[in-house]
Amino acid sequence: MFEKVLIANRGEIALRILRACRELGVRTVAVHSEADTEAKYVKLADESVCIGPAASSLSYLNIPALISAAEVTDAQAIHPGYGFLSENADFAERVEKSGFVFIGPRPETIRLMGDKVSAKEAMKAAGVPCVPGSDGALPEDAKEIVQIARAIGYPVIIKAAGGGGGRGMRVVHTEAALINAVTMTRAEAQAAFGNPAVYLEKYLENPRHVEIQVLADGYRNAVWLSERDCSMQRRHQKVIEEAPAPGINRRYVLRIGERCAEACRRIGYRGAGTFEFLYENGEFFFIEMNTRVQVEHPVTEMITGIDIVQAQIRIAAGEKLWLRQRDIVARGHAIECRICAEDPFKFTPSPGRISNWHPPGGPGIRVDSHIYNGYTVPPHYDSMIAKLIAHGDTREQAIRRMRIALSEMMVEGIKTNIPLHQELLLDERFIQGGTSIHYLEEKLAARPAAGTGS
Ligand code: ADP
Repeated sequence: MFEKVLIANRGEIALRILRACRELGVRTVAVHSEADTEAKYVKLADESVCIGPAASSLSYLNIPALISAAEVTDAQAIHPGYGFLSENADFAERVEKSGFVFIGPRPETIRLMGDKVSAKEAMKAAGVPCVPGSDGALPEDAKEIVQIARAIGYPVIIKAAGGGGGRGMRVVHTEAALINAVTMTRAEAQAAFGNPAVYLEKYLENPRHVEIQVLADGYRNAVWLSERDCSMQRRHQKVIEEAPAPGINRRYVLRIGERCAEACRRIGYRGAGTFEFLYENGEFFFIEMNTRVQVEHPVTEMITGIDIVQAQIRIAAGEKLWLRQRDIVARGHAIECRICAEDPFKFTPSPGRISNWHPPGGPGIRVDSHIYNGYTVPPHYDSMIAKLIAHGDTREQAIRRMRIALSEMMVEGIKTNIPLHQELLLDERFIQGGTSIHYLEEKLAARPAAGTGS
C-alpha cells in the first residue's frame, strides 16, 4: 500500500478520498486553490499545498503545479477524483512519467475511451450493444453523410468524438437540416475539444439512463457492481440517482453487466469505471464509458457494501482483485439527491456563506459533504455542496427515508435545491419509477408559475 496519496481535487470528493485513505492507513496531501484555503479537508489532510489562484485553469487544472506538489510532499500516488483532470490522458501520462502512480486506468485506456468513436468500436468488438449509428467518424463528403443518416433513420444525433459534459451534440429531425448541423457541430467540436471528428447515432426519443459500475485490476480480472438509474437529469446533468434501476428485468441486467466485465477483461481495464447506457423498449445501448469514480458511486456502495474509492486505491497499489462476481450481492435500494447551492427552480447559482448547517441522520442515511457552519461556498466551481443518500430494504423505504432526511437537512444563508428534491420525492411518476431522461425537464416546463422561485 502507498504511504502517501495526493488528492488532486476539491469539495466533497476530496473529503471522500481523504476518508478512504485514512481507513487504509495512507497519509494524505490536499491541494487547494486560494479560494479553498479554509476547506475542511484541507485542514484534515496530513499536509496541504496551495497550487494557485481561484480559477481552476490556474489551479485544479494546472498540471505542473500538481506534479510539483506531489514532488515536494513525496506523495507516491495521485487520485484525480471526478471532473477536472480525472479523464485527461495527458495528465495521467505526466503523472506516471514523473514517477507517481495515477489512481485510475492506464493513459492509453483513458485515451481509447475518451474518444467516443474508438470507445464505441472497442465496445462493439467486445459484444456490448451500442446505439445504431455510423461506422466510426463521418466522412467529408455530404452525399455520403446523407446516405449514412438515411440508413440510420431520423431523428439522428450528431456527436463529437471528443465531446463530454453534455456538450458537442445536436439532434437532427430532417434531411434538410443535416449537413448544416454537421458543419456546425464540427466547428464547435474543433473549438471546444480540439477535434473536429463527429459521428451519427440514432436519436432515441424516450430512453432511460442506466449505467453499470465495474472494478478491474489491470490483470484481466473484472467484476460489475450492479447498475444505477440516473434518468432524472436537467441539461444532461444528473439530479437524482438510484440503484438498482427500477423495473428492469434482472436477467437482462445480469447479461449486460457480464458483458461490461468481459469488455474490461478484454481491454485490460484497470480501476473503477462506468459503462453508460441508454435503455429503451427493453434494450440497452452503450453510449460511453467514464474512466473514473462517478459522483453517484455512493448508491452502489450502499447496496453492495463495497467501498469503491478504497478499491481504486488498492487496485492502483497493484493488488489483484479480491472480489469474485459471486461475492457481490446487492441488498435493498439506495437513492442519492445532489444538493446544490442554487435557486431550486430558476437554477441560478447561490454561492455565499452558510450561516447554519444541520445534516440529517438516522438509519440508512449518508451525507457526503465538505461544508460546515460558517463555510463560504465559492462562486468559482461546481455548485454541488452535498450528496444525500438514503438506503432502505425496498425502494419505498429508501424514498420515505429520503423525504425525512430532506426535511431535516438545514442549509441557511444560501439557496439550495432541497425544495426541488422534496417535490420530486413526492412526484407520482418518480414514485412509480422508470421515468425517461426527459421527464424532469418536461415537469419543470409544466410547473405552474415556473420561475417564481422559493
Ligand atoms: P457526454 O459525454 O457529453 O455526457 P453522452 O454520450 O454520455 O455525452 O450523452 C449525454 C446525454 O445525451 C445522454 O445521457 C442522453 O441524455 C443524451 N444522448 C446521447 N446520445 C443519445 C442518443 N443516441 N439518443 C438520445 N439521447 C442521447
